[in-house]
Amino acid sequence: MRSLLLWMARNRFLRKNLPRLWFAKRAVRRFMPGEDAEAALGAGEKFKAEGIRSEFTRLGENVETLLECEDTAQHYIDLMDEIEARGIDGEVSVKLTQLGYDIDVERTLERAGRLAAKAAEGGRTFWIDMEGSSYAEGTIAFYERLKATHANTGLCLQAYLRRTAADVQRLLPLDPRVRLVKGAYAEPASIAYQSKHDVDTNFVALAVALLEARREGRDVRLGLGTHDIRLIEQIAEHAHAMDLPKTSFEVQMLYGIRMDQQRRLVSEGYTVRDLISYGHAWFPWYMRRLAERPANVIFALRQIIG
Ligand SMILES: Cc1cc2nc3c(=O)[nH]c(=O)nc-3n(C[C@H](O)[C@H](O)[C@H](O)COP(=O)(O)OP(=O)(O)OC[C@H]3O[C@@H](n4cnc5c(N)ncnc54)[C@H](O)[C@@H]3O)c2cc1C
Repeated sequence: MRSLLLWMARNRFLRKNLPRLWFAKRAVRRFMPGEDAEAALGAGEKFKAEGIRSEFTRLGENVETLLECEDTAQHYIDLMDEIEARGIDGEVSVKLTQLGYDIDVERTLERAGRLAAKAAEGGRTFWIDMEGSSYAEGTIAFYERLKATHANTGLCLQAYLRRTAADVQRLLPLDPRVRLVKGAYAEPASIAYQSKHDVDTNFVALAVALLEARREGRDVRLGLGTHDIRLIEQIAEHAHAMDLPKTSFEVQMLYGIRMDQQRRLVSEGYTVRDLISYGHAWFPWYMRRLAERPANVIFALRQIIG
Protein backbone atom coordinates (compact mmCIF):
# COMPACT_ATOMS: atom_id res chain seq x y z
CA MET A 1 0.00 0.00 0.00
CA ARG A 2 2.80 2.44 0.95
CA SER A 3 4.66 1.81 -2.33
CA LEU A 4 1.46 2.22 -4.35
CA LEU A 5 0.66 5.54 -2.68
CA LEU A 6 4.23 6.80 -3.18
CA TRP A 7 4.05 5.71 -6.84
CA MET A 8 0.78 7.65 -7.18
CA ALA A 9 2.52 10.69 -5.66
CA ARG A 10 5.03 10.65 -8.56
CA ASN A 11 2.51 9.88 -11.35
CA ARG A 12 2.05 12.91 -13.63
CA PHE A 13 -1.37 11.88 -14.97
CA LEU A 14 -2.86 11.42 -11.51
CA ARG A 15 -1.17 14.56 -10.24
CA LYS A 16 -2.86 16.57 -12.97
CA ASN A 17 -6.31 15.01 -12.98
CA LEU A 18 -7.23 13.62 -9.56
CA PRO A 19 -7.17 16.91 -7.62
CA ARG A 20 -9.93 18.27 -9.90
CA LEU A 21 -12.41 15.72 -8.58
CA TRP A 22 -14.74 16.99 -5.89
CA PHE A 23 -14.36 13.94 -3.67
CA ALA A 24 -10.58 14.28 -3.64
CA LYS A 25 -10.89 17.92 -2.60
CA ARG A 26 -13.20 16.86 0.18
CA ALA A 27 -10.90 14.14 1.48
CA VAL A 28 -7.82 16.37 1.66
CA ARG A 29 -9.56 18.79 4.05
CA ARG A 30 -8.47 16.70 6.97
CA PHE A 31 -4.86 17.74 6.36
CA MET A 32 -5.23 21.31 5.15
CA PRO A 33 -7.55 24.16 6.11
CA GLY A 34 -8.02 25.28 2.48
CA GLU A 35 -6.22 26.01 -0.76
CA ASP A 36 -5.52 29.71 -0.25
CA ALA A 37 -3.28 31.69 2.10
CA GLU A 38 -6.27 33.23 3.84
CA ALA A 39 -7.46 29.82 5.04
CA ALA A 40 -3.96 29.00 6.29
CA LEU A 41 -3.58 32.33 8.10
CA GLY A 42 -7.01 31.85 9.67
CA ALA A 43 -5.87 28.48 11.03
CA GLY A 44 -2.69 30.15 12.34
CA GLU A 45 -4.78 32.73 14.18
CA LYS A 46 -6.84 29.99 15.84
CA PHE A 47 -3.68 28.15 16.88
CA LYS A 48 -2.27 31.37 18.30
CA ALA A 49 -5.24 31.57 20.69
CA GLU A 50 -4.35 28.04 21.87
CA GLY A 51 -0.65 28.76 22.37
CA ILE A 52 0.36 26.71 19.32
CA ARG A 53 2.86 28.32 16.94
CA SER A 54 2.58 28.00 13.18
CA GLU A 55 4.68 27.15 10.19
CA PHE A 56 3.32 27.77 6.70
CA THR A 57 4.04 26.06 3.43
CA ARG A 58 2.38 26.53 0.07
CA LEU A 59 2.26 23.17 -1.62
CA GLY A 60 4.07 22.75 -4.88
CA GLU A 61 7.35 21.20 -5.96
CA ASN A 62 9.56 21.02 -9.05
CA VAL A 63 8.49 24.33 -10.50
CA GLU A 64 9.27 24.55 -14.23
CA THR A 65 9.32 28.24 -15.19
CA LEU A 66 11.16 31.27 -13.87
CA LEU A 67 7.87 33.10 -13.60
CA GLU A 68 6.50 30.46 -11.23
CA CYS A 69 9.63 30.71 -9.04
CA GLU A 70 9.36 34.47 -8.79
CA ASP A 71 5.66 34.15 -8.05
CA THR A 72 6.42 31.67 -5.24
CA ALA A 73 9.07 33.93 -3.72
CA GLN A 74 6.76 36.96 -3.84
CA HIS A 75 3.94 34.89 -2.37
CA TYR A 76 6.05 34.07 0.69
CA ILE A 77 7.17 37.70 1.08
CA ASP A 78 3.52 38.79 1.12
CA LEU A 79 2.64 35.95 3.48
CA MET A 80 5.33 37.04 5.93
CA ASP A 81 3.88 40.57 5.88
CA GLU A 82 0.48 39.10 6.79
CA ILE A 83 1.96 36.88 9.51
CA GLU A 84 3.57 40.00 11.01
CA ALA A 85 0.43 42.12 10.66
CA ARG A 86 -1.71 39.48 12.40
CA GLY A 87 0.80 38.91 15.19
CA ILE A 88 1.06 35.17 14.49
CA ASP A 89 4.15 33.36 15.76
CA GLY A 90 4.57 31.92 12.29
CA GLU A 91 7.47 30.90 10.10
CA VAL A 92 7.62 29.69 6.51
CA SER A 93 9.04 26.48 5.13
CA VAL A 94 9.88 26.07 1.46
CA LYS A 95 11.04 23.35 -0.93
CA LEU A 96 14.05 24.46 -2.96
CA THR A 97 12.53 22.98 -6.12
CA GLN A 98 9.61 25.38 -5.57
CA LEU A 99 12.06 28.27 -5.73
CA GLY A 100 13.66 27.07 -8.96
CA TYR A 101 16.47 24.78 -7.82
CA ASP A 102 16.05 22.55 -10.91
CA ILE A 103 16.38 25.54 -13.23
CA ASP A 104 19.10 27.75 -11.76
CA VAL A 105 20.76 27.17 -8.38
CA GLU A 106 22.38 30.62 -8.15
CA ARG A 107 19.10 32.43 -8.71
CA THR A 108 17.41 30.10 -6.25
CA LEU A 109 20.04 31.13 -3.69
CA GLU A 110 19.26 34.76 -4.38
CA ARG A 111 15.51 34.13 -3.91
CA ALA A 112 16.06 32.13 -0.73
CA GLY A 113 18.29 34.95 0.56
CA ARG A 114 15.47 37.42 -0.02
CA LEU A 115 13.06 35.22 1.95
CA ALA A 116 15.54 34.68 4.78
CA ALA A 117 16.16 38.44 5.00
CA LYS A 118 12.43 39.05 5.17
CA ALA A 119 12.05 36.42 7.91
CA ALA A 120 14.93 38.03 9.84
CA GLU A 121 13.05 41.34 9.95
CA GLY A 122 10.48 39.67 12.21
CA GLY A 123 13.10 37.65 14.13
CA ARG A 124 11.87 34.44 12.48
CA THR A 125 13.51 31.36 11.02
CA PHE A 126 13.29 30.65 7.30
CA TRP A 127 13.01 26.88 6.86
CA ILE A 128 14.09 24.70 3.94
CA ASP A 129 12.32 21.36 3.49
CA MET A 130 14.24 18.23 2.51
CA GLU A 131 13.04 16.46 -0.65
CA GLY A 132 13.94 13.06 -2.19
CA SER A 133 17.50 11.76 -1.72
CA SER A 134 18.73 12.95 -5.13
CA TYR A 135 18.46 16.47 -3.67
CA ALA A 136 20.09 15.72 -0.29
CA GLU A 137 23.70 16.69 -1.00
CA GLY A 138 22.69 19.70 -3.10
CA THR A 139 20.27 20.94 -0.44
CA ILE A 140 22.82 20.62 2.35
CA ALA A 141 25.50 22.43 0.31
CA PHE A 142 22.90 25.10 -0.49
CA TYR A 143 22.07 25.44 3.20
CA GLU A 144 25.74 25.88 4.10
CA ARG A 145 25.99 28.79 1.67
CA LEU A 146 22.72 30.41 2.76
CA LYS A 147 23.47 29.97 6.47
CA ALA A 148 26.81 31.77 6.03
CA THR A 149 24.99 34.96 5.04
CA HIS A 150 21.63 34.44 6.79
CA ALA A 151 21.99 32.97 10.27
CA ASN A 152 18.21 32.63 10.68
CA THR A 153 17.84 29.76 8.23
CA GLY A 154 16.83 26.24 9.19
CA LEU A 155 17.01 22.92 7.37
CA CYS A 156 15.04 19.71 7.52
CA LEU A 157 17.14 16.53 7.95
CA GLN A 158 15.78 13.00 7.51
CA ALA A 159 16.60 10.31 10.08
CA TYR A 160 15.97 7.47 7.60
CA LEU A 161 19.02 8.47 5.53
CA ARG A 162 22.23 6.73 6.59
CA ARG A 163 24.23 9.86 5.75
CA THR A 164 22.41 12.14 8.20
CA ALA A 165 24.64 11.42 11.23
CA ALA A 166 27.62 12.68 9.20
CA ASP A 167 25.55 15.63 7.92
CA VAL A 168 24.76 16.68 11.50
CA GLN A 169 28.49 16.65 12.37
CA ARG A 170 29.22 18.58 9.17
CA LEU A 171 26.64 21.27 10.02
CA LEU A 172 27.33 21.63 13.76
CA PRO A 173 30.08 24.26 13.35
CA LEU A 174 27.48 26.47 11.63
CA ASP A 175 25.13 26.48 14.66
CA PRO A 176 22.37 24.95 12.55
CA ARG A 177 18.64 25.20 13.01
CA VAL A 178 17.43 21.69 12.29
CA ARG A 179 13.98 20.20 11.86
CA LEU A 180 14.51 16.49 12.31
CA VAL A 181 12.00 14.19 10.58
CA LYS A 182 11.89 10.49 9.80
CA GLY A 183 11.60 11.07 6.02
CA ALA A 184 8.64 10.86 3.67
CA TYR A 185 9.99 9.44 0.38
CA ALA A 186 10.63 5.89 -0.90
CA GLU A 187 14.41 5.39 -0.60
CA PRO A 188 16.46 2.22 -1.21
CA ALA A 189 18.13 0.20 1.56
CA SER A 190 21.57 1.13 0.22
CA ILE A 191 21.10 4.70 1.46
CA ALA A 192 18.19 4.57 3.92
CA TYR A 193 17.23 2.56 6.99
CA GLN A 194 14.13 0.54 6.19
CA SER A 195 12.77 -0.68 9.51
CA LYS A 196 10.86 1.53 11.92
CA HIS A 197 13.19 0.39 14.69
CA ASP A 198 16.33 1.54 12.85
CA VAL A 199 14.81 4.86 11.77
CA ASP A 200 13.56 5.58 15.30
CA THR A 201 16.92 4.66 16.86
CA ASN A 202 18.69 7.01 14.47
CA PHE A 203 16.13 9.75 15.12
CA VAL A 204 16.85 9.67 18.87
CA ALA A 205 20.63 9.50 18.34
CA LEU A 206 20.55 12.52 16.00
CA ALA A 207 18.36 14.54 18.36
CA VAL A 208 20.65 13.73 21.29
CA ALA A 209 23.74 14.76 19.27
CA LEU A 210 22.10 18.12 18.52
CA LEU A 211 21.01 18.63 22.13
CA GLU A 212 24.50 17.78 23.37
CA ALA A 213 25.95 20.40 21.07
CA ARG A 214 23.47 22.85 22.51
CA ARG A 215 24.45 21.96 26.05
CA GLU A 216 28.08 22.50 25.08
CA GLY A 217 27.21 26.06 24.10
CA ARG A 218 26.46 25.82 20.39
CA ASP A 219 23.54 27.95 19.26
CA VAL A 220 21.62 24.96 17.87
CA ARG A 221 17.86 25.05 17.41
CA LEU A 222 16.14 21.68 17.27
CA GLY A 223 12.65 21.01 15.96
CA LEU A 224 11.31 17.46 16.30
CA GLY A 225 9.10 17.06 13.24
CA THR A 226 7.27 13.94 14.31
CA HIS A 227 3.94 12.69 15.64
CA ASP A 228 5.69 9.85 17.42
CA ILE A 229 4.95 10.63 21.05
CA ARG A 230 7.16 7.81 22.30
CA LEU A 231 10.18 9.31 20.55
CA ILE A 232 9.36 12.81 21.81
CA GLU A 233 9.18 11.43 25.35
CA GLN A 234 12.52 9.64 25.00
CA ILE A 235 14.18 12.80 23.71
CA ALA A 236 12.58 14.88 26.47
CA GLU A 237 14.10 12.47 29.01
CA HIS A 238 17.54 12.88 27.44
CA ALA A 239 17.14 16.69 27.55
CA HIS A 240 16.13 16.49 31.19
CA ALA A 241 19.13 14.30 32.01
CA MET A 242 21.33 16.95 30.35
CA ASP A 243 19.73 19.65 32.54
CA LEU A 244 18.24 21.31 29.48
CA PRO A 245 14.80 22.94 29.84
CA LYS A 246 11.66 21.69 28.07
CA THR A 247 12.03 24.63 25.73
CA SER A 248 15.43 23.39 24.48
CA PHE A 249 13.60 21.79 21.57
CA GLU A 250 10.37 22.39 19.72
CA VAL A 251 7.81 19.82 18.63
CA GLN A 252 6.54 20.31 15.10
CA MET A 253 3.51 18.42 13.83
CA LEU A 254 1.33 18.58 10.75
CA TYR A 255 -2.05 20.28 10.63
CA GLY A 256 -4.86 17.86 11.42
CA ILE A 257 -2.67 15.15 12.90
CA ARG A 258 -2.64 14.38 16.63
CA MET A 259 -4.18 17.71 17.60
CA ASP A 260 -4.96 16.30 21.05
CA GLN A 261 -1.26 15.66 21.60
CA GLN A 262 -0.30 19.08 20.26
CA ARG A 263 -2.58 20.69 22.86
CA ARG A 264 -1.41 18.38 25.66
CA LEU A 265 2.26 19.15 24.96
CA VAL A 266 1.54 22.90 25.08
CA SER A 267 -0.26 22.48 28.41
CA GLU A 268 2.81 20.66 29.76
CA GLY A 269 5.12 23.53 28.85
CA TYR A 270 6.56 22.32 25.55
CA THR A 271 6.84 24.54 22.50
CA VAL A 272 4.65 23.22 19.69
CA ARG A 273 4.52 24.42 16.09
CA ASP A 274 1.87 23.23 13.65
CA LEU A 275 2.87 23.02 9.99
CA ILE A 276 -0.05 24.36 7.98
CA SER A 277 0.02 23.40 4.31
CA TYR A 278 -2.20 24.99 1.70
CA GLY A 279 -2.33 25.50 -2.07
CA HIS A 280 -3.64 23.87 -5.21
CA ALA A 281 -0.72 21.51 -5.81
CA TRP A 282 -1.52 19.20 -2.93
CA PHE A 283 -1.72 15.83 -4.68
CA PRO A 284 1.84 14.37 -4.23
CA TRP A 285 2.00 15.75 -0.71
CA TYR A 286 -1.39 14.24 0.18
CA MET A 287 -0.34 10.85 -1.19
CA ARG A 288 2.75 10.96 1.04
CA ARG A 289 0.52 11.69 4.07
CA LEU A 290 -1.67 8.68 3.21
CA ALA A 291 1.44 6.54 2.73
CA GLU A 292 2.63 7.41 6.23
CA ARG A 293 -0.44 5.82 7.69
CA PRO A 294 -2.42 3.64 5.30
CA ALA A 295 -5.30 3.64 7.84
CA ASN A 296 -5.85 7.18 6.54
CA VAL A 297 -6.98 5.70 3.22
CA ILE A 298 -10.00 4.23 5.01
CA PHE A 299 -10.54 7.60 6.66
CA ALA A 300 -10.35 9.33 3.25
CA LEU A 301 -12.87 6.87 1.77
CA ARG A 302 -15.26 7.49 4.65
CA GLN A 303 -15.02 11.27 4.08
CA ILE A 304 -15.85 10.74 0.42
CA ILE A 305 -18.81 8.46 1.06
CA GLY A 306 -20.15 10.21 4.16
C1 LIG B 1 6.54 19.60 10.72
C2 LIG B 1 6.92 18.50 9.75
C3 LIG B 1 7.69 18.80 8.65
C4 LIG B 1 8.07 17.79 7.76
N1 LIG B 1 8.90 18.10 6.74
C5 LIG B 1 9.39 17.09 5.96
C6 LIG B 1 10.37 17.33 4.97
O1 LIG B 1 10.80 18.48 4.73
N2 LIG B 1 10.85 16.26 4.26
C7 LIG B 1 10.42 14.98 4.50
O2 LIG B 1 10.91 14.04 3.88
N3 LIG B 1 9.45 14.74 5.41
C8 LIG B 1 8.93 15.75 6.14
N4 LIG B 1 7.98 15.48 7.08
C9 LIG B 1 7.32 14.14 7.10
C10 LIG B 1 8.10 13.13 7.93
O3 LIG B 1 9.28 12.76 7.26
C11 LIG B 1 7.26 11.87 8.19
O4 LIG B 1 6.95 11.27 6.96
C12 LIG B 1 5.97 12.12 8.95
O5 LIG B 1 6.16 13.06 9.97
C13 LIG B 1 5.42 10.80 9.56
O6 LIG B 1 6.33 10.26 10.45
P1 LIG B 1 6.27 10.38 12.04
O7 LIG B 1 7.55 10.96 12.49
O8 LIG B 1 5.08 11.12 12.47
O9 LIG B 1 6.32 8.89 12.56
P2 LIG B 1 5.44 7.60 12.23
O10 LIG B 1 6.18 6.46 12.81
O11 LIG B 1 5.09 7.56 10.78
O12 LIG B 1 4.13 7.88 13.04
C14 LIG B 1 4.06 7.92 14.44
C15 LIG B 1 2.60 7.97 14.83
O13 LIG B 1 2.07 9.26 14.45
C16 LIG B 1 0.78 9.13 13.86
N5 LIG B 1 0.84 9.56 12.45
C17 LIG B 1 1.95 9.72 11.68
N6 LIG B 1 1.63 10.15 10.44
C18 LIG B 1 0.29 10.23 10.42
C19 LIG B 1 -0.65 10.61 9.43
N7 LIG B 1 -0.27 10.97 8.18
N8 LIG B 1 -1.94 10.59 9.76
C20 LIG B 1 -2.35 10.25 11.00
N9 LIG B 1 -1.52 9.87 11.99
C21 LIG B 1 -0.21 9.88 11.71
C22 LIG B 1 0.41 7.67 13.96
O14 LIG B 1 -0.34 7.47 15.11
C23 LIG B 1 1.72 6.95 14.07
O15 LIG B 1 1.61 5.77 14.78
C24 LIG B 1 7.60 16.47 7.98
C25 LIG B 1 6.82 16.18 9.09
C26 LIG B 1 6.48 17.17 9.97
C27 LIG B 1 5.66 16.80 11.16
